[in-house]
Amino acid sequence: MTLTGKRALVTGASRGIGAAIAKALAAEGADVAITYEKSADAASEVVRNIKALGRRAVAIQADSADVAAVQASVEKTVAALGGLDILVNNAGILRLAEVKDISLEDIDALLHVNVRAPIVASKAAIPHLGKGGRIINIGSFFADRVPGGAGLPVYALSKSALTAFSQGLARELGPRDITVNVVQPGSIDTDMNPVHGPFHETLRSLTALGRYGTVEDIGNMVAFLSGPKAQYITGTALTVDGGANA
Ligand code: NDP
Repeated sequence: MTLTGKRALVTGASRGIGAAIAKALAAEGADVAITYEKSADAASEVVRNIKALGRRAVAIQADSADVAAVQASVEKTVAALGGLDILVNNAGILRLAEVKDISLEDIDALLHVNVRAPIVASKAAIPHLGKGGRIINIGSFFADRVPGGAGLPVYALSKSALTAFSQGLARELGPRDITVNVVQPGSIDTDMNPVHGPFHETLRSLTALGRYGTVEDIGNMVAFLSGPKAQYITGTALTVDGGANA
């Protein structure tokens, strides 16, 4: 167990990749707070799973598009767990639309949830993080290349913005021995990108391994980056995409 005594906040962890990250951190010994937007029952189930491992867990309703809710989620985590060592900005949305058609509402939603929320959460978390602290942002393999077809430019922009943000923040927090990294998933089987969804053949054919990844593939990487063996990894993007960008 590499994370015994650590306290983590994982945003958007009622389902999908976030839920797997929360469970992977708990399996390594961390106490975990999670946020969700709508899925209260699913969030409660994740909390039950974590408590069954003997760890503390709390679910916090917080819409990532709401700045005050994001700030409050950090403070609620600190109050519930007695501090914060690991922040995982995972909550994200996908709105597929070609640029000639995309609504201002969709542009704002993508920027607010995928970009502004991780900045606001990091800003709120930084005063609480000590030596060995971690900020891990969940980006996308579309931050590097955009081979998936039409409708992706603004989503891809939101994820490459997160990568640049992480590089800059790594420089700011390095002197305090806090690392900041991005994990860039490829096609992972979730509600956002189901393995039997309309794009699965195209996305699967991009991979070197010829298959979608699992949520545990991302959870394992985040758990590794959170632990002491990753102490010299900062300011970088770890792509976990089955070779899709190879
Ligand atoms: P899902 O849509 O399956 O799950 C999204 C999770 O985020 C849910 O827990 C959801 O909560 C929460 N969430 C969504 N919007 C908000 C919001 N406004 N405020 C708070 N929580 C919110 O997504 P994935 O698990 O697939 O994706 C997780 C991350 O990984 C995202 O950042 C995504 O961009 C990224 N990613 C995913 C890939 C994939 O192939 N799946 C590929 C590359 C990147 P609720 O249940 O309450 O709605």
